[in-house]
Amino acid sequence: MTQLSEHLTLQEFIHSDTATKNGINNELPPELLSTAINLAVSLFEPVRELLNAGISVDSGYRCPALNQLVRGVPSSQHCLSLALDLVPVGLSIRDAIKLIISSGISYDQLIEEGTWLHISSIVNAPEKNRHEILLTTDHKTYQHLTKEQALASL
Ligand SMILES: [Zn+2]
Repeated sequence: MTQLSEHLTLQEFIHSDTATKNGINNELPPELLSTAINLAVSLFEPVRELLNAGISVDSGYRCPALNQLVRGVPSSQHCLSLALDLVPVGLSIRDAIKLIISSGISYDQLIEEGTWLHISSIVNAPEKNRHEILLTTDHKTYQHLTKEQALASL
């Protein structure tokens, strides 16, 4: 088993029931391995430690065929190894968002997507992170929140 970081394996990062069911080979391209490791070390581990909870990884890397099948946006950061869909165990997604935005963890987008939390970071150039907080219920329209709005209303 290949570890990307202490608590995230490559297998978890590329696992997808949809890919398996549809015969899609969702292997990580070798050129994205260092980005995946960077994401695991600089985003996943700090978030895991902050939330102090179990975290199930719903989706990490998506090859273009898988991304198309799950109707991800073509520019999805999942295809670049820059995003994770997480489900905290024993903690609501909104509480997780509030903890993350109050911490010093650098992120590009945090999206409450119903039953999971999408989090991304431009790990190879973190100065480009936009620190966007978004909510969606239909995965088509997104409501932007400022940090202050998120802390007050979530
Ligand atoms: Zn996502």
